[in-house]
Amino acid sequence: MRNQIVAGNWKMNKTASETESLLDELSAKLPDTHASVIVAPTFVNLSTAQNSLQSSTIVVAAQNMHFAANGAYTGEISADMLLDIGVETVILGHSERRSLFGEDDALLAQKVKTALDKGMQIIFCFGEELEERKSGNHFDVVKSQLQNALFGLDAVAWPQIVLAYEPDWAIGTGETASPEQAQEMHAFIRSTITEAFSTEIAEQVSILYGGSVKPNNATDIFSKPDVDGGLIGGASLKAEDFVAIIKAI
Ligand code: PEP
Repeated sequence: MRNQIVAGNWKMNKTASETESLLDELSAKLPDTHASVIVAPTFVNLSTAQNSLQSSTIVVAAQNMHFAANGAYTGEISADMLLDIGVETVILGHSERRSLFGEDDALLAQKVKTALDKGMQIIFCFGEELEERKSGNHFDVVKSQLQNALFGLDAVAWPQIVLAYEPDWAIGTGETASPEQAQEMHAFIRSTITEAFSTEIAEQVSILYGGSVKPNNATDIFSKPDVDGGLIGGASLKAEDFVAIIKAI
């Protein structure tokens, strides 16, 4: 069975003390679950989160990183810096990184390569914009995002990869892909990976859905056979909501 995962992307939210409070509440309310639970606070609070979660199964992830090992990249964070504080998982290619910070497939391919070479686990995000879905290009867009960033990799890299399909039009908008739309795209992603690599790899990789997942729609979305969990933004900022979503898997 594939790993089921619920990951919370906190974006640019929560101070250090708020991070501690939220994680204390989350740890206290965390249900028994077969799913892996991941939280991604902002860079400056990663160590705080690691400390708060020392005796917890919750994994701390970074929201981004640079591809270079070190050097003149003001404001950036390297893989070694993350690993040095015990952070081994990183989200790459989030739609806000793509749309607000100009990250394209070529740059993301470099980040992916660095993270994998360093032995990190990546949550690779991708998904179409509204216009691309309206014009019926969403399958082509998703396929090319995967091809450009991931299909040049060796097959052995795939156990380090989690995919997160996040249609841009559903992120932070309150508009969710229907469970059927999510399933249709996740099945397409799996068939694309089968063509490029193998059925075995396609069947093993966890594919999360992200885009306005809330306690009231999580069960329906997670019930689809090719949906292996969720990447949660807004609803991961409240312990009660995040816990309800974890219980839905
Ligand atoms: C996200 O940021 O990855 C996300 C899915 O956000 P939201 O759940 O708020 O739509």
